[in-house]
Amino acid sequence: MIRRATAVALMLPVALAAQRPTTAADVQRVLFPLADDSMAGRMTGTPGEAKAARFIAGAMQHIGLTPLGDSGYFQRVPTAVIPLAQPRRGRTERVVLAGSFADRDTFPVERRRNSVNVVGLLDGSDPRLKDEVILVDAHFDHVGVGMAINGDSIYNGADDDASGVTAVLEIARQLAAGPRPKRSVLFVATTGEEAGLLGTRWFIDHPAVPLARIVANLEIEMIARPDSLAGGAGKAWLTGYERSTMGDELAAAGIPIGPDRRPEQRFFERSDNIAFARRGIVAHTLSTYNLHADYHQPSDDVAHVDLDHMAAVINAAARATRLLADGPKPAWKPGGQPAAPAARP
Ligand SMILES: [Zn+2]
Repeated sequence: MIRRATAVALMLPVALAAQRPTTAADVQRVLFPLADDSMAGRMTGTPGEAKAARFIAGAMQHIGLTPLGDSGYFQRVPTAVIPLAQPRRGRTERVVLAGSFADRDTFPVERRRNSVNVVGLLDGSDPRLKDEVILVDAHFDHVGVGMAINGDSIYNGADDDASGVTAVLEIARQLAAGPRPKRSVLFVATTGEEAGLLGTRWFIDHPAVPLARIVANLEIEMIARPDSLAGGAGKAWLTGYERSTMGDELAAAGIPIGPDRRPEQRFFERSDNIAFARRGIVAHTLSTYNLHADYHQPSDDVAHVDLDHMAAVINAAARATRLLADGPKPAWKPGGQPAAPAARP
C-alpha cells in the first residue's frame, strides 16, 4: 500500500488528463476526415453518407458510448430517391423519407436507399436524474456532389455540419472522460437534415429513448468560423435564445454563449432542433454562422475552418452540456414554445 500523499501525486496527472479540453488538433482529427473529398459531400442515401456514419460510430465506440441504434450505433432510416423533372444545380434526384421499411420497399429497387442516424448514450450517475436525458445532436449529412464551381464538384460541408458533428463527438469525449454527469446524455448524428429533417423525423417517430424523458436538446450547427456579430473568435449564439431559460442559465455560469443577432433569418426554425421544440422539448441550436458566401458551395471546405475558434466553441458547448446534465432543467418562457406540428395525413 502506498502512502496517501504519494497516491494523490500519482492520481493528479490522470485527473488532469481526464479533464482535457478540446484542442485544435482534436478538431482536425475529427473534422478533416468528415469533410474529406472521400466522403463525397455525405449526401443522404449515398456511399458517402454510409462512410461518414461508420466514422462517427467508430468514434462513439472509442469514447465508450452505449450503442442505442437498432443496429449497433446505427438507427436505420428508410429512404428513397425520386427523379427530378428538371436537374437542379447538377442534381437529378431528391431523397425522401419512407413511412416504414415496408413502404420503402414499394419503391423500384434502384430507388431504395439505406440511411442511418448514429446514436450513442452516456449513462447518468444520479439514481433519480439518470432517467432524464439531454440530447446533443448535429446533422452529419450534406448535399453531396453537384454542379462544379471553379472546378470543384464536391460539396464538403466542413462548416455545414461536419463542424457540429465534431462538437458532438468532442463533447462526448470530454464528458465520458470526466466525472459522470447526473442526467444521461444522448449523442445523435442525424441524417437527411438537408433534405427536410428526414433523420430527425424518423427519430421522433422511433425515439431511442422515450421523448418524454428528453428534458433539453442542444443542437450544434455551423461553428467553423467566427461571427463578428457574436463577438468574434470563441463566441457562439443560441437560436431562439429568448424563448427559454437555457441561454440565461448558460450565461449565468459564464459560458460565452449569447443571443442570435439575426432573428430575421429565423434560424430557430431552420434545423433539427425545431422538430424537437414543436414536441415541447426545450431545444436550441448553438451556432457561429456568419452568413458566409461559401454556404452550400463546394468551397465550404476545411481550408476555411478556424480550428482554434472551433475548439473554444466546443469547450463552451461541453460546459453547457455538463450544466444541462447536472443543473436545473431549462423551461420555456411564456409564449416561447413553438406550436405543435400539424397532424400528418
Ligand atoms: Zn446544416
